[in-house]
Amino acid sequence: MTAELPGWTHSYSGKVRDLYVPVDPSQGDVVLVVASDRVSAYDHVLEPGIPGKGVVLTQLSLWWFEQLADLVPNHVVSTDVPAQVAGRAMICRRLEMFPVECVARGYLTGSGLAEYRVSGSVTGIALPAGLVDGSRLPEPIFTPARKAELGEHDENVPFEAVVGTVGADTAEALRDLTLAVYGRAEAIARERGVILADTKLEFGTDPTTGAITLGDEVLTPDSSRFWPADLWQPGRAQASFDKQFVRDWLTSSASGWDRASDSPPPSLPADVVERTRDRYLDAYERLTGAPLAV
Ligand code: ATP
Ligand code: MG
Repeated sequence: MTAELPGWTHSYSGKVRDLYVPVDPSQGDVVLVVASDRVSAYDHVLEPGIPGKGVVLTQLSLWWFEQLADLVPNHVVSTDVPAQVAGRAMICRRLEMFPVECVARGYLTGSGLAEYRVSGSVTGIALPAGLVDGSRLPEPIFTPARKAELGEHDENVPFEAVVGTVGADTAEALRDLTLAVYGRAEAIARERGVILADTKLEFGTDPTTGAITLGDEVLTPDSSRFWPADLWQPGRAQASFDKQFVRDWLTSSASGWDRASDSPPPSLPADVVERTRDRYLDAYERLTGAPLAV
């Protein structure tokens, strides 16, 4: 269910965000991006949501857009949004999104680790032998993925596939911008005792200026892996500021859920919801240095 918002027409819902366009076309080429409290794991949207999550994602994204403003233009126009979605929404320039998930990795884990174990490389980039879960890479790498249809898994692809989709100049620009954003964000997080292991960015073209513009959410626990630096220990799964509790519970015997089956996951217990909410709030406070009242 998406909210009825005065002046806006619902146009699209992803797993987490709802997009609206202005009823009045003279409002210009903008979209209202609303972050819901929905939480997804293993490509399923779970019940119930995590109270306050949409506010954390939006406020953290806005904070990061400011930290990155000198590196790359972003899609934010204003936060003067309908009262029902205050704090969780932003008015953005409508971009022509590139169908590429722009991922930068400074550490090896997740789908990167899975690929490395098979081939010794990630999206065709050869890596040294002997790396383990959580290893720091010799240098950050750009490991793009193809954006999947709703409900499907994004697929890691080599850089050449991005060149094939968007052309060489744009592919190089996306790679360079992604690595620049990662470098800046990794340094900021590190000063605050947080490792930015990897992050996923989405860029689009601003139809009025033609400029490659950073869209979507940025550097949130949904799009990035943040690890407390003091607990980092390569060779095992790392503690992280995200939906780790959700994933751990779903894959534990307590949930009774078989990930390989077609059945939808069961509802999350209250303590998993509460602890996940605390993780999101903690990530916000650690990174920005200020608590968020939600
Ligand atoms: P999917 O898009 O495949 O449903 P998702 O589940 O990650 O993926 P959400 O993050 O919930 O989707 O929804 C956000 C959607 O809005 C994404 O499709 C994203 O590409 C798109 N988007 C983000 N910023 C803009 C923008 N400025 N203009 C147009 N589309 C945007
Ligand atoms: Mg998304």
